[in-house]
Amino acid sequence: MNNISENSWKEKLTNEQYNVLREKGTEKPFSGEYVDHHDDGFYYCAGCGNKLFSSSNKFDSNCGWPSFDDVVSSNAVEQHEDNSLGMKRIEITCAQCGGHLGHVFPDGPKQTTELRYCVNSVALNFKPEQK
Ligand SMILES: [Zn+2]
Repeated sequence: MNNISENSWKEKLTNEQYNVLREKGTEKPFSGEYVDHHDDGFYYCAGCGNKLFSSSNKFDSNCGWPSFDDVVSSNAVEQHEDNSLGMKRIEITCAQCGGHLGHVFPDGPKQTTELRYCVNSVALNFKPEQK
């Protein structure tokens, strides 16, 4: 998936998705459709369909973006050091298409992983759990 040209991504994605996934943009806090979303199911990469997060790991962080305390599998996302904007952060990208998802912070729930995967809604597609 990494060899898809930027022009093809532009055709495949909405402007908002392209801005986040390919240009590492950030949607406005509390604007995303999955911030207050509590249905059971899985969240997939909006770029390539890679399964990324489970609703069972979603928690209310009140940070304005969908937040998860873990990924669905350790090879679903990649982490990269991000020193942009004068901050030291860990960027997370889709391991399959390289799309930018958000960042992971060490201030998640103490009773689980203590991690907060802070993800842009537009980088995700939710599908209800198949029972
Ligand atoms: Zn992807």
